[in-house]
Amino acid sequence: MRIWLDGALRNADSAQVSVFDHGLTVGDGVFETVKAERGTAFALTRHVDRLTRSARGLGLPDPDADEVRRACAAVLEANPLPLARMRITYTGGVSPLGSDRGDAGPTLVVAVAEETRRADTTDVITVPWVRNERSAVAGLKTTSYAENVVALAAAHRAGASEALFANTVGRLCEGTGSNVFVVLDGVLYTPPLASGCLAGITRALVVDWVGAKEADLPFEALEQAEEVFLTSTLRDVQAVRRVDGRAVAAAPGPVTAEAMRIFEARAGADLDP
Ligand code: PMP
Repeated sequence: MRIWLDGALRNADSAQVSVFDHGLTVGDGVFETVKAERGTAFALTRHVDRLTRSARGLGLPDPDADEVRRACAAVLEANPLPLARMRITYTGGVSPLGSDRGDAGPTLVVAVAEETRRADTTDVITVPWVRNERSAVAGLKTTSYAENVVALAAAHRAGASEALFANTVGRLCEGTGSNVFVVLDGVLYTPPLASGCLAGITRALVVDWVGAKEADLPFEALEQAEEVFLTSTLRDVQAVRRVDGRAVAAAPGPVTAEAMRIFEARAGADLDP
């Protein structure tokens, strides 16, 4: 595997990031997961834009968008894969031990791994831990995913593939790596960004293309919903069959099936001229 680290392609097994890197020591970094099919990255401009917004949120210098794009192209070319997840990581760089960031400048890594297509339906659990919509890093895609790791492991122990969080005021928020949509009385809703959820790229495309409404929803909407689905770069639109072991009325129901159809048809077009 060849990866990009600080300006050049390198062998993944010999590339070295400092043990003093602030991304490693305190989770001071931001990232993106980008899907690539047969060497073409999907919606790369949107990912680079979100990486930049996340970096600004942490007070990091803007990533060099040209370098990020060149790095992604080089990594995809060096690792021909039918379906891949590419991971852009941009951290606070070599720093003193402790929370103060050093002045060595950021670390940029672009790595890649083979990916398999996700199932069209899946099961989820809810977890009692919350997303803090008032956090300084709410909505930023930082490398501090420890809570997501814990919640996802709980989902896997329960035989599910995703865990859903409420926010601090008990409103529906998002999954560990996905946004959530529900159908209530035939109308498609998704939580607003103010809920603390990530501005998912798939979420935005589904809101645009399928016409979902953003609405502040109680966590219990998951129990009442006729349909529930998840969106993410790697899941696309994925119908939820069970929430905490309880069957959702229809999976995929008519609204979800339509969202899947529209997404598949339109995501084939080049979003990145
Ligand atoms: N929420 C979280 C916490 C995520 O990690 C992801 C995956 N990036 C998403 C939502 C979905 O975002 P996207 O559609 O951009 O992959």
